[in-house]
Amino acid sequence: MNSTSAPLSDSSPRDATSAVPRTALVLGGGALGTSIARQLATAGMAVTLATSGELCDGASGRSLSWLNSAGDRSPAYHALRVHGIDRYRTLFAGDPSRDWLRFPGGLWWTSDEAPEAARARHEGEIARGYDSHLLTRDDVARSFPQLNSEAAASESVANPGEGWVSLPHLVDHLATELRELGGRIETDLGACELVVEDGRAAGIRDADGTEHRADAVVVACGAGTSAVMAGAGVEIPDGSPLSMLVTTEPADVEAPVLNTPRAAMRPNPGSTFCVDHDWYVDQIHEHEDGSCTVDDSVVTELLAEASRLLATGQPLIASQWKAGRKPIPGDGEPVLGAVGALPGCFVAFTHSGATLALIAGETVAHEVTTGTRHPLLSAFSPDRFQG
Ligand SMILES: Cc1cc2nc3c(=O)[nH]c(=O)nc-3n(C[C@H](O)[C@H](O)[C@H](O)COP(=O)(O)OP(=O)(O)OC[C@H]3O[C@@H](n4cnc5c(N)ncnc54)[C@H](O)[C@@H]3O)c2cc1C
Repeated sequence: MNSTSAPLSDSSPRDATSAVPRTALVLGGGALGTSIARQLATAGMAVTLATSGELCDGASGRSLSWLNSAGDRSPAYHALRVHGIDRYRTLFAGDPSRDWLRFPGGLWWTSDEAPEAARARHEGEIARGYDSHLLTRDDVARSFPQLNSEAAASESVANPGEGWVSLPHLVDHLATELRELGGRIETDLGACELVVEDGRAAGIRDADGTEHRADAVVVACGAGTSAVMAGAGVEIPDGSPLSMLVTTEPADVEAPVLNTPRAAMRPNPGSTFCVDHDWYVDQIHEHEDGSCTVDDSVVTELLAEASRLLATGQPLIASQWKAGRKPIPGDGEPVLGAVGALPGCFVAFTHSGATLALIAGETVAHEVTTGTRHPLLSAFSPDRFQG
């Protein structure tokens, strides 16, 4: 392929001696890339968000996006997630009428075959200061009359501070702000790769071979991140599994986010629900072009499990389902911030990217604009994989 030089930004080219980057390219049009690009534009940088297809065509377009820090995890990861929820609270307070960002709380239970699990989870959560309540089945019946408490385990954990977001709406919101701040969005570039010059990230090369240059490059390609970084000689292990999200027809039931042994579900704009789980991962078939197929019987069974959780007794009907890779770094922990081995390059690749989208945008942008590590990201450096 022939390469041509076509800078996407009209600001000054990088002065190699300058420590302060003025132009930035963010690769990947999901929740993380859009959030980082918006933060960089807010900081006054000339920003281009570049992506292979349409915005939100990856995991962000098929995410359960439960906003939480429930369960057990490292203190640093817990802190980052709690800060992530805090930023959504601020966004919510700015306009509580948004139907794509709500805080109805969460309710979790596991099988009665593991009777100690709910209590252990609850005790771990309260030890970390997380708002957590242990409920009996009768408590569930009283507190959540819209649910079928018979389906609940003998003990459940309620987390009133949790919520959900519709990432396609969030990405649309952030992209609008990015454009208003003067940022550019380039879609349909195909699979891009990093351009490395003199040991630094100098931009990206799109599928047509066109180079787009910038002082700083942020790689936020979801499950494609490891491949992009490997192309520049930087190893970031990938552990992204297959996943599927089903969206239902309108059901008009007010519900918390539910995490149960056979179905996880949350409300969604339009009085619909989004439903997923992991018991059918082996039944998702990925093809060479990256597309996935799932037998209809799996969707039917998942929605039967979800319907059983509601008191209405009405079956939930699928309106659509989407399957693909769920971005998860190889060691399960977020990979966020500057790449020591490749100056000028930054990475944002994580599980729980819905919960982290806003705080990741803020902290990664901080590293780009200041040239210093954000203290919240010290445990999540991409450099931990470099020998
Ligand atoms: C089924 C499911 C359930 C989930 N549940 C939750 C949950 O409950 N709570 C939570 O917090 N998180 C959850 N997540 C995780 C969260 O949705 C993701 O972490 C988040 O959406 C990832 O956003 P991203 O921007 O990193 O990646 P993506 O949304 O995948 O975006 C990456 C973008 O990069 C583009 N791209 C890839 N490679 C290239 C390339 N070489 N060149 C150019 N562009 C490229 C892709 O086309 C895509 O647009 C879930 C995810 C899934 C799939």
